[in-house]
Amino acid sequence: MTHDTLGMERIYLDYAATTPVDPRVLTAMRPYFSEKFGNPGSVHRAGQEAIAAIDEAREKVGKALGAKFREIIFTASATEANNLALRGLLRTVRGQYADKFWHKSASSQREVGVSPRVVVSVIEHESILETAKDLEKSGVEIIYLPVDKKGLVDLGKLKTALNERTVLVSVMYASNEVGTIQPIIEIAKIIADFKKNHYPLLTTHYPLLHADAVQALQYLNCDVNSLGVDMMTLSSHKIYGPKGAGALYVRRGGPATNHHPLATIISGGGQEYGLRSGTENVPAIVGFGKVAELLGEYTQEAHRVAELRDYFWVKLKKLKSKIEINGPGVMLKKDSSDLRRLPNNLNVYFPGATAEELLIKFDMAGIEASAGSACAARSLTPSYVIKELGFPEKRAKSSIRFSLGRPTTRQDLDEVLQRIKNLPA
Ligand code: PLP
Repeated sequence: MTHDTLGMERIYLDYAATTPVDPRVLTAMRPYFSEKFGNPGSVHRAGQEAIAAIDEAREKVGKALGAKFREIIFTASATEANNLALRGLLRTVRGQYADKFWHKSASSQREVGVSPRVVVSVIEHESILETAKDLEKSGVEIIYLPVDKKGLVDLGKLKTALNERTVLVSVMYASNEVGTIQPIIEIAKIIADFKKNHYPLLTTHYPLLHADAVQALQYLNCDVNSLGVDMMTLSSHKIYGPKGAGALYVRRGGPATNHHPLATIISGGGQEYGLRSGTENVPAIVGFGKVAELLGEYTQEAHRVAELRDYFWVKLKKLKSKIEINGPGVMLKKDSSDLRRLPNNLNVYFPGATAEELLIKFDMAGIEASAGSACAARSLTPSYVIKELGFPEKRAKSSIRFSLGRPTTRQDLDEVLQRIKNLPA
């Protein structure tokens, strides 16, 4: 809890937007702002010190995913990692299949059905959806996978979306808005079966599977091999690390290539194995490495926040009987293997009030929550995710996301409930 200028305790319930930096992470980062300020590209000792620190961070992030050291590409954000996954892959495809896919104008490619195909879910983060839209303009066919009322992607539609032109499937591991956990292992299996049936000689490694695991990393198993993903996006500031560091895991050594399947989208000095030029943000990368190393300490955290979240929901519902939950149900079972909702997420429909009005009231009462994703919330446009679950615009306009984090306690939630009870009608 922090206090505002009038001395009111502020209660932050927006940990899906961002998290405070763990003090141990800050300590690890600090020397890299001043004493150890070398450019990792320099050959002298200061440069070597910096590149060694990046390599150590790469090792740690890789370890958190069960990935090899060289499979981690540091970026400035998850947004950039998502852009690299989609645009970088399509640039490679353009190079490999220039004659097949790209010899016609963008519009005629679609007509004759020779454009490469990318499959994304309709509830992806904007950094996937806007990138997909942009690729669509350059002639890539995008198939948008619908979701059900709980936000789960339609696996039947996925099966029919796979054909010999499909180069990528990108499905987020867990939704930042409604917390839905997608069945990534099942999705990987569908893709693997498709490849087995269509390419028995393994003549291609397409379609690749990419998962945006930004919201999942601290709560779910993100071992890339057990999940069966080819690419995975991460963000440091959602897991108590600094802003300015993200990563893309990119599998190496697939059946068809031992190289990264991506082409760069930022050219220059060739940092990050040529995939992301620009002097590395050493302190932020060091912080990301440290936070990845600390993840193991928090194995009980998912249970703790899920219990708190369920407690909060039950009490809130008693207080406001008309409210409804968006996305999967919340009640924590002892065996949580079939749970389909992120443990820290609660997305609530408040009939009769707009999210804007509510957020202002909450903010005045010292409660920090949000409507949808952080980027959308600034403009307060109704959540496209809630609409895609099949709800009317009205519901999308009146829904609030509460997201709990490591500092959240039961006392905080009791206090929030009390303040909501006292809100003016
Ligand atoms: N993907 C998901 C699922 C997110 O929740 C977010 C942030 O809200 C992002 C991507 C973008 O992350 P970043 O802020 O690191 O660009």
